[in-house]
Amino acid sequence: MTLIENLLALFQVDRRLRSLRARVDSAETYVGIQQRQLQSLQDRHDELLTRKRQRQAHTSNLETEAAGIDERTEKLRVELNAASTTRQYHAVLNEVNSLKDKRREVDEQTLVEMTGVEEIVAEVAELDEKITERTKVLDGAKAELASRSDEIKESLAELEIEREQKTSGIPSDVQSLFDELAADFEGESMASIELIDKRRREYACDTCNVHLPFDIVSRVTGRPDEIVQCKGCLRILYASEGAREALVK
Ligand SMILES: [Zn+2]
Repeated sequence: MTLIENLLALFQVDRRLRSLRARVDSAETYVGIQQRQLQSLQDRHDELLTRKRQRQAHTSNLETEAAGIDERTEKLRVELNAASTTRQYHAVLNEVNSLKDKRREVDEQTLVEMTGVEEIVAEVAELDEKITERTKVLDGAKAELASRSDEIKESLAELEIEREQKTSGIPSDVQSLFDELAADFEGESMASIELIDKRRREYACDTCNVHLPFDIVSRVTGRPDEIVQCKGCLRILYASEGAREALVK
């Protein structure tokens, strides 16, 4: 077998391998999407719980502050009753009044914090539902992936052995080029030369449609152990049946 024939055989096996893996790959992609969505819901969930704890801590500080104000106010009321001069009475009364204002502020802040906590609790409950739903979808996707992987396991193993055999006659530098091109072009590492006009000896690359000079075509057909890449799309060229026949006649 010539090098090009060996490569074409490998090309065919690679195509079968890729189409076999495609269903598993798409299932894998779907699992990945579900995992990312679930993760973002969980991140939001964690963030909300942190904020809830912060607001609860602030509420408890405010409660301590309110109790301090109440205690001080109580003492001042006693002082107020015992005040012996008008000046003393007014001084104490002023402080009582300013404490009243302070107490109102603390109450308002407490209300804001408690409302905030309620809102967080509601959002967390919504998120919990979404997380449960998303987890179900993810579990289903994982099961589908496992069953698809299982389905192709045997055929995949067989094809991989076949691939090993096909690569045996190919020099390592050619193999590397072939694999690189396959990685870049989703498996399409080779392109056929098609006959465009027999009389005018016009040929083109089947993949990128670039016109191929006749000397390229005769090199590909005449020296099948050489690698010729298309100038347009870089793929390894091989002659299609039609192109070959046209040359012979
Ligand atoms: Zn091309």
